[in-house]
Amino acid sequence: MLTPELRKRIESCNNLPSPPGVATKIIRLANDPEADMARIAEVLALDPAITAKILRIANSPMYARQRKTENLRQALMVIGLNATISLALSFSLLKSWGKENGTGGLDYPLYWRRALLSATASHVLARVIAVKDSEELFLACLIQDIGMMALDRAVPGLYGEIGPSQVRQAAVIKREQDELGVDHAAVSGWLLDRWQFPERTQQVVAASHEPEKVPKQSPHGVFVRCVALASAIAESFLDSSGDRDFVALAEQAARYFDIDKEGLGELLAEIRNMIPDAESIFETEILSTAHSDEILDEARDALMLRNLQALQAVDTLKSSTESLEQRTKRLEESNKRDPLTNLFNRAYLDEFMRDAFSASEAHNTPLSVAFADLDKFKSVNDTYGHAMGDQILVTTANILRANVRAADVVARYGGEEFILVFPNTEYPLLKTICERIVRAFREARHDVGTRRDLNVTISIGMATHNDGRKFRSVDELLKAADKALYTAKLQGRNRSVPFDLVANSQLAYM
Ligand code: GH3
Ligand code: MG
Ligand code: MG
Repeated sequence: MLTPELRKRIESCNNLPSPPGVATKIIRLANDPEADMARIAEVLALDPAITAKILRIANSPMYARQRKTENLRQALMVIGLNATISLALSFSLLKSWGKENGTGGLDYPLYWRRALLSATASHVLARVIAVKDSEELFLACLIQDIGMMALDRAVPGLYGEIGPSQVRQAAVIKREQDELGVDHAAVSGWLLDRWQFPERTQQVVAASHEPEKVPKQSPHGVFVRCVALASAIAESFLDSSGDRDFVALAEQAARYFDIDKEGLGELLAEIRNMIPDAESIFETEILSTAHSDEILDEARDALMLRNLQALQAVDTLKSSTESLEQRTKRLEESNKRDPLTNLFNRAYLDEFMRDAFSASEAHNTPLSVAFADLDKFKSVNDTYGHAMGDQILVTTANILRANVRAADVVARYGGEEFILVFPNTEYPLLKTICERIVRAFREARHDVGTRRDLNVTISIGMATHNDGRKFRSVDELLKAADKALYTAKLQGRNRSVPFDLVANSQLAYM
């Protein structure tokens, strides 16, 4: 809680940060249950730069559809109302505060790099643990430390000579507590309340330094942990003191979300891959690729991860040779996607598998595939209708995509059957990924109107080429995964099974 004295001090400070005009209008819309798409589009259109950014996001790989999104109304449909409001607010705040210079001890550009990095981290995290409202989470992360800016102005000298350790929350909080008896989370929460930010954002930001005081099962429990973990991840990327503690980070990730070390390694690698996209969308520098690669190396050593480097090599190639626009363009031009789920279609899968198989042969690298099929899906359709079934297929696609890496391919093979291709991936990693997917489905709940908690499980068959076994063709590799899938169904569904456990597999396929 803010003490009355400090509150007075902040209130009487005449150069407090405050949301710019468009942001104030956007906040008003966010609080107005009657606001409709037309009205929101109208307000956003007041700022052409924001409009352009929203369109860019709607056409980015995060949301890309087959058809190009050409105006704000369409973008609002693609991204959703609340998400658009959160994003617009993020853009607007960053635009007006990003370049300002403070008079206290804070380094503003460094402040915003940390904020953007934790927001970017939260975006990837939200995908991995399948949290809804990732844009609101993005905003909460971006804005969580705004209290530091207010304190920098209201309490001169508070951050004097703090230097690079301003990115370390523990150091900042200690200083604030010693000097003022409260820390900036309380100030941030108070400011957001004053500015009438959405209630959840306020509360989560206010609690973000002590997430474990909010019970995990409570409405904001997961959200506040996401903010805290994303902030810790940003810190581990930006801290230059050499005190980076990946082991502590891994413990935090495990405690909050059951993310294991491999999972954390992959998460960090994905965040690193997102940085160029975030830099391009927000037109700001966050972290050089070389520097983030060094940090990934350090994480790999600290967590004793074997696979991170291979993962990184594939992804580096992908993200460094292709800009966001190029990638968006590539997606738009293609006729490679299934219209319902936006996953790759079968035609593209065939083409990709041919290339991946040849590459695996040529370089003697492993190639893994997974054949996934929803369990008892016919009865879901029969009970809740085909439209609900379709909606679950879309969610299924999101869960699958969220659990694989950028270089992997997820395709809809037909109906409720999906094929995942993992180039350059050995069986142990395939197994980890598939187990994570099965777990994600086990934990997901679908809103089907009459029920909000429908659970649909998935079965997966796995096969790896060039990891102790060779298949003669793409067709044989896929058949092996299909056979393993059949075994998974026979064994009771809701599981992943490798081809090598299929009885007589040797005889049938070698
Ligand atoms: P199992 O666990 O053995 O796979 O059971 P299942 O019911 O999922 O298996 P089955 O292959 O017999 O049925 C698949 C069902 O998936 C049939 C159909 O109702 C549903 N389905 C296939 N394609 C679509 C689609 O595009 N939309 C919807 N809503 N349902 C689909
Ligand atoms: Mg089926
Ligand atoms: Mg099925």
